[in-house]
Amino acid sequence: MSIQALQKIIDSSRRVVFFGGAGVSTESGIPDFRSKDGLYNQKYKYPPEVMLSRSFFDTHPKEFFDFYRDKLLPEGVKPNKAHLKLAEMEKAGRLSAVVTQNIDGLHQAAGSKNVFELHGSVHRNYCMDCGKFYTSDYIKNSEGVPRCECGGVIKPDVVLYEEGLDNATVTGALREISSADTLIVAGTSLSVYPAAGFLDYFRGKNLVLINRDPTPADSRAQLVIRGKVGEVLDGIKV
Ligand code: NAD
Ligand code: ZN
Repeated sequence: MSIQALQKIIDSSRRVVFFGGAGVSTESGIPDFRSKDGLYNQKYKYPPEVMLSRSFFDTHPKEFFDFYRDKLLPEGVKPNKAHLKLAEMEKAGRLSAVVTQNIDGLHQAAGSKNVFELHGSVHRNYCMDCGKFYTSDYIKNSEGVPRCECGGVIKPDVVLYEEGLDNATVTGALREISSADTLIVAGTSLSVYPAAGFLDYFRGKNLVLINRDPTPADSRAQLVIRGKVGEVLDGIKV
């Protein structure tokens, strides 16, 4: 029923933009942060928001990379039905852009082209001294703190807590959101700022929310679907 309502909205829209979070990748086997089996409910020596902060990266790089390799660089993950449907929609001219808080690169792996990665990507890693580029496999296969051939520490190009977002990415994402007539928000608890505030730039007709748990924006939405984003999007005909 609600999938039909979503289909109707998509069919009557000219510019659809998708805004997603960690819940878009849980069906690929990557844990989110705030679900009951998410990272925030597992026990670590330090809380995840501490381990993923810039000051922790600078002062405890070994612990940072142990956690990062283990939880944010899982092996053999593949795009799920949500990523694949969004790529198919873009190819057919039915989706203008994907704005994501995820850092896993699965939208591009599925074939999406116009992707705004607000929090960066695990697939880009740079030496902090000379700027040389390294792949995520290099980080995955290194031990302890990954080092460049020049001796510098390699940092993943992901936005840690205490760090700012990339200006060009923010500008591009807000341009897409503010010119959309339909915004589909999915798999995000809408609790990480500034990303969550991006919804305020939407001026279009249809705000659609697809999420397993309630979100602070549900009351503003024209359509709320309480389900799994992969299963819901799989039901959409392009
Ligand atoms: P979050 O963990 O705060 O919230 C995830 C939301 O998705 C929850 O409300 C949950 O109910 C919902 N959800 C989970 N699986 C779902 C599914 N299959 N279908 C529909 N809904 C589902 O995630 P967030 O709001 O994105 O904030 C977490 C931050 O952590 C982000 O900024 C992101 O950068 C980062 N993160 C990224 C990844 C990744 O790259 N895959 C994974 C974990 C965290
Ligand atoms: Zn170097």
